[in-house]
Amino acid sequence: MKKIISLISFFMCLTSHAIMDKNAKIYVAGHKGLVGSAIVRQLEYEGYTNILVATSNELDLRNQAAVNAFFEKEKPEYVFLAAAKVGGIQANIDYPAQFIYNNITIEANVIHASYVHGVKKLLFLGSSCIYPRNCPQPIKEEYLLTSELEKSNEPYAIAKIAGLKMCEAYNREYGTHFIACMPTNLYGENDNFNLHTSHVLPALIAKMERAKKEHADKVVVWGSGAPYREFLYVDDLASATLFLMNYYEGSDLVNIGTGQDVTIKEVALLIKEIVGFQGELVFDTSKPDGTPRKLLNVDKLKSLGWQAQTTLEEGIKKTVKWCEAHNIF
Ligand code: GDP
Repeated sequence: MKKIISLISFFMCLTSHAIMDKNAKIYVAGHKGLVGSAIVRQLEYEGYTNILVATSNELDLRNQAAVNAFFEKEKPEYVFLAAAKVGGIQANIDYPAQFIYNNITIEANVIHASYVHGVKKLLFLGSSCIYPRNCPQPIKEEYLLTSELEKSNEPYAIAKIAGLKMCEAYNREYGTHFIACMPTNLYGENDNFNLHTSHVLPALIAKMERAKKEHADKVVVWGSGAPYREFLYVDDLASATLFLMNYYEGSDLVNIGTGQDVTIKEVALLIKEIVGFQGELVFDTSKPDGTPRKLLNVDKLKSLGWQAQTTLEEGIKKTVKWCEAHNIF
């Protein structure tokens, strides 16, 4: 019986719309970033030929008039909204105003312009860190807004929740097809390796690569090493977003993750081994740990037919190789 219900819900979730035509005009907002660049690679890989991009110099997404003019001129059929102000725990603590302002204005402008200019479908990305700080694990989609947020990134979370709610509200009031997904912590090519503003995984790759080069005997890892994090290779995320764009219809969120997490200490040791850093890891407990755990429940995405392919070890190896090929350090 359970199987029959899940099959019925699977077909109900499948889009009533046709899947994206290979020649459809697809706008990827934020194509230079970690997520946007991976989505462009995946679109190209899957044979899409009409991909629209604009650098932030060409189009400031915080400028409503400029965004409207761009949509008026280009008339994209599909939009991947991957443009966002993102950063690690320290950046969120230091730049709360930039996180809330940039994200709210980008979302409001792009989502509204997509409605006004008749975009067939839009995909918006939330983040696992916008779920409540202490919600049960693994985190189900319905736990959003059920209790207090993590303080260190509250302004970012509020902005992202506004974007999710915009999609839901526009679908309800205007009949649009704006879908929203919740990726877990991402890493991969084109990540931010700046030690002050990055997330933990690229930061630890950068620290250990530099320490190896300079024959340093220790690397500092922030916090206790005890928090758990789930990491998804960004090319897997990109594959999931195309899958959802083509096959998912509905205003309910969809988590995107691997369904497995590791401690910060475990990921630090794995990076140490892959990079080949011989020194010692020192845990600086004066730095914040942030939320203790944020593992996503990915049952919904699995039941729709998608699952992550890249193991953490493979993903880190690919990322380290990419950094070496691009002389990042
Ligand atoms: P979060 O997932 O939003 O908390 O953001 P981060 O990816 O920045 O941090 C995740 C965890 O990794 C936190 O417990 C950090 O204290 C820890 N961490 C350990 N070393 C580092 C580092 O060098 N940089 C960053 N950003 N986090 C680190």
